[in-house]
Parts: sequence; structure tokens; C-alpha cells
Amino acid sequence: MRIIGLTGGIGSGKSEAAKEFAKLGVPVVDTDAIAHTLTRVGEPLLAEITHTFSQQFLNGDASLNRAALRAHVFEHPAERIKLESLLHPAIYAYAKAQLTLNQTQLNPSYQILVIPLLFEGNRYQSMLHTTLVIDCDETTQIKRTMARSHLTETEIKRIMQTQVSRETRLQLANEVIQNDGTVEELAEKISKFHKKLIKTCIVSE
Ligand code: ATP
Repeated sequence: MRIIGLTGGIGSGKSEAAKEFAKLGVPVVDTDAIAHTLTRVGEPLLAEITHTFSQQFLNGDASLNRAALRAHVFEHPAERIKLESLLHPAIYAYAKAQLTLNQTQLNPSYQILVIPLLFEGNRYQSMLHTTLVIDCDETTQIKRTMARSHLTETEIKRIMQTQVSRETRLQLANEVIQNDGTVEELAEKISKFHKKLIKTCIVSE
């Protein structure tokens, strides 16, 4: 099973890049999407979160008030650790199961695993064949994130401070794709990377 770990800072274009891989027929497993799935109404993990924290993080329809919980753990590091110890093992197990299922059903040359905080922890590294960083300068990250969400520049900068620096990320990456142009240019770079990877997969098989 050949797994490429796709990462990058906030708003760098991870989702956009993942979409391009999916268009090329590459299976994509996204740990952020898994976190959403596992905390939907009726999921045991949501019950655990509610039990550990409190009903105050639920909306009127019993769904998780993600923004309120995110703000709470941002201000309380000990609470953040508590939340992560609930979420991360469950996300990891689900991602691994999904990757194995894709491998069995589709037998792809490789799969993409999107892990926004890949270099901030060490849970996933050992299962990865290569790490791919989607990179753009910080001003672009902020501009794109502001256009997409309700976050202010200050809030985005605070989030960026909880992530490894751009410099560290680039040092740790096996491969880097610059996303400082148009979406079409990104698509072209992903397509080139895909072709290169397929070739090396065939050679080493
Ligand atoms: P997050 O870390 O917040 O999940 P992300 O790294 O997944 O973000 P995306 O959601 O892919 O980033 O991109 C952030 C925003 O920027 C989106 O609205 C996306 O459509 C846009 N975007 C990404 N790449 C480009 C590009 N090359 N040109 C213009 N807009 C882009």
C-alpha cells in the first residue's frame, strides 16, 4: 500500500490539491473530513465529547457546535489535549480502515492521505511512502482563508502559530508543490506529479 501524505498550512490549498488527485482517479482519504464524519449526530464519539466537555457545545439540533468547541480549546490548552486524545485515535483508526478498504477494492498505484497537522505529531509518518507539502506564501494563505471563512487576519495568524513554521514544513517535506498561481496551474502541477509517481510505482513494482 503506497500512501502519500498531503499536508500544508492553513489555506495553502490542500483541499484544492486533493480534489485534483481525485479527478485523476486517485483515492483520497481526508482526516479533516473523517473528523467531521465521526462527530455527526448519533456518532458515539460525539456522545463521548459531550460527556467529557458539556452540553454547552451542542447546537439546538444536538449537532456539535464546532466553532464554540474550537474557540474553547484554543483558549484552554489542557482541554485541547483532552479533545485530541478523544479525536485522534478514532480518526487514525478510521483512516487506516479506509485506506485498507480502498486498497482491497481498487488496488490503486497510490492513495492520498490528507493530514493538515502531519508534522505537528508523529502518528502517521511511519505509514507514508512520501510526504507532499502544498505551499504558498503566508500573505496568500491569509488572503485565501479570509475569503473562504469568517476568520479575521488576527485569528488566522493565531492558528498559524499553532502550526509548524513554513520553513520547518518545507525542510521536512519530501516533495513540495507551489500553489501560488491559479487553480489551473495547480492542477497542471498535480498532474505532472501524478505521472512521475505512477512511473516510479511501475519501476519499483
Ligand atoms: P484549510 O487548512 O483551512 O483546510 P486548505 O489548505 O485545504 O485549507 P483550500 O481549502 O484548498 O486550502 O484553499 C483555501 C481557499 O483558497 C479555498 O477557497 C480555495 O478554493 C482557494 N484556493 C486554493 N488554491 C487556489 C489558487 N491556486 N488560486 C485561487 N484560489 C485558491
